[in-house]
Amino acid sequence: MNELIARAISPATAAAAGSPRPSREAAEAAVRTLLLWAGDDPDREGLADTPARVVRSYEEFYAGYAQDPVELLARTFEETDGYDGMVVLRDIRVESHCEHHLVPIIGRAHVAYLPHRRVVGISKLARVVDLYARRLQIQEKLTAQVANAINDVLEPKGVAVVIEAAHQCMTTRGIHKPGVTMVTSHMLGAFRDDASTRREFLAMIRGGAVAAEA
Ligand SMILES: [Zn+2]
Repeated sequence: MNELIARAISPATAAAAGSPRPSREAAEAAVRTLLLWAGDDPDREGLADTPARVVRSYEEFYAGYAQDPVELLARTFEETDGYDGMVVLRDIRVESHCEHHLVPIIGRAHVAYLPHRRVVGISKLARVVDLYARRLQIQEKLTAQVANAINDVLEPKGVAVVIEAAHQCMTTRGIHKPGVTMVTSHMLGAFRDDASTRREFLAMIRGGAVAAEA
């Protein structure tokens, strides 16, 4: 893992761009401005603590900026007794925020890789989804970042990521189309080059194949 790869999978942050993080007070003042912009009175009882709550929520929603995918995926296991099948984690809950409107993107991710000598703890696949989901996102970028991080750190024979999600910027505003989900996929290595590997993965995430017995 060289510096260039590390930079490619840990995209620009405020600190990297040279913009200092504002103080908590400045962030709360910005929320107060938005409450006024919405047309309400930020001093009424119900809203008095809202700026502080929103800023605390942001610490949770955007915790992914402070996390390092390389560190997260670094611990691997090599005692696999020659296991060379696909590892698939289905239906990982995705909670992210669209970078254009700051509203939720809610859905699920399916992540697979074809190990090459080493495997990673299965919960790490879910955590790498969370890490990138807890940043401002578009679904296409989120899908690619998860796949690229696993590919670059584990160096497996292939990685596949499919995300299905609803975007509240489309369901609760704008064109108001509830029930619409967007599906994105990013396939690398064997999943891109070998149609039968890709088919096996797609069958597994659809609940076909062996996975349905679980
Ligand atoms: Zn949006």
